[in-house]
Amino acid sequence: MALQRPKGTQDHLPDGSPKLSSEISSSAFRHVTQTARTVLERAGASFIATPIFEESELVTRGVGGSTDIVRKEMFKVFYAGDHGGFVMRPEGTAGIVRAYIQNGLKQLPAPLKLWTHGPMFRAENVQKGRLRQFHQVDYEVIGSADALVDAEAIWLMVEVVRELGLSGVQVKLGSIGDPSDRETYNAYLKELFTPHAERLSDDSKDRLTRNPMRILDSKSATDQGIIAELNVRPMLDFLGEEAAAHFAQVRAYLDAWGVAYEVDPSIVRGLDYYRRTAWELHHQNIGAKSALGGGGRYDGLAAELGGPDTPGIGWAFGIERILIALEAEGIQIPTSAGPVIYIAALDAEYVPLAAKAALSLRASMRAEFGYKHQKPGNAFREGERRGATYTALIGSDEAATGTLAVKHLGTGEQSAVKLEELAEFLTTDS
Ligand code: AMP
Repeated sequence: MALQRPKGTQDHLPDGSPKLSSEISSSAFRHVTQTARTVLERAGASFIATPIFEESELVTRGVGGSTDIVRKEMFKVFYAGDHGGFVMRPEGTAGIVRAYIQNGLKQLPAPLKLWTHGPMFRAENVQKGRLRQFHQVDYEVIGSADALVDAEAIWLMVEVVRELGLSGVQVKLGSIGDPSDRETYNAYLKELFTPHAERLSDDSKDRLTRNPMRILDSKSATDQGIIAELNVRPMLDFLGEEAAAHFAQVRAYLDAWGVAYEVDPSIVRGLDYYRRTAWELHHQNIGAKSALGGGGRYDGLAAELGGPDTPGIGWAFGIERILIALEAEGIQIPTSAGPVIYIAALDAEYVPLAAKAALSLRASMRAEFGYKHQKPGNAFREGERRGATYTALIGSDEAATGTLAVKHLGTGEQSAVKLEELAEFLTTDS
């Protein structure tokens, strides 16, 4: 049997591929990343790219040793003869903050806005919308603790999906407070859950000692049952004065700009270096995995990675989930355009001439040629199959007069065009 791709991965295929769906369309992927680029660069974000594998320690510290991602879902990297303690990155933030510190990006005007897109890797149970290699668009702002930056980041995330045409999205906004607020909350949770510890899943028993807030994130139905039964008070009830003021400020900006959101007290990001604002972007009809993306402030992260204490905030959305949402809303994704012209030779001896004509056009437009000579009927069919606007033929008459027989495939109109006037003809005729 022919070899297969690994479970939980996808091939992104060109337009016209037999098994194409929007979730694996390379045109659709490009449409999402280009839209994100337009919106984010208008806001002053610069593109950054970091390695897709990093030191394990970066990910353990950057994502958190008590998370499922680190404990259960890491892809480790081995290479011949050695094991360097590397992992495939499960998310983008840790690598970007590392790069910020390592490359002295503090020198650039602050706050620094960065964006990227690329593959992320998590060894998860595979289902629709949950892959082992998936792709994210990622936006990070480093160097400001101002609530205005939080509100702008949320606005930008909403703006990208709005620009893509999605309407069924919802922002769920919360705050996880400052570290001292979380300490109080964790103490409350510990006291609340300890009498029920025996009934908790093994993972949550462990979380009870390490980081009780993570119990609220548990995927176990039993844990969620206990959480419902205990009527757990939300983190939002525990915000200190400063975190509460910050949260109110973020909300005031969003209200002033008319960004719709819902306060969701259940949002938790139980890592030490996450702070204050946290949110998720959901879509109503993409099934159980309704989160398109999420974001949050991580003021403690740079220091955790060994750099200077630098505030930051960021978000990421999953491109595959966005594509599922676009499909669910019936939004047509533009496919890549065909060539302006397809040039075919009618005899083998004119193939180099057809090639030369196509090459000469490529400084200004997409032009293709036939590698073998063809009969006129076949050449026109081939041009149509490739989505060309024009098909041109070179036979003995054309070669003798230095012209091409150019046919507009839409109107059927034919013209003899001099080779040196071809580029001008193609740009002015349509
Ligand atoms: P996270 O980094 O976990 O906050 O995830 C941010 C977004 O990335 C999610 O809302 C999803 O859209 C997407 N995502 C996360 N994990 C996966 C996965 N295993 N497969 C597909 N998309 C994912």
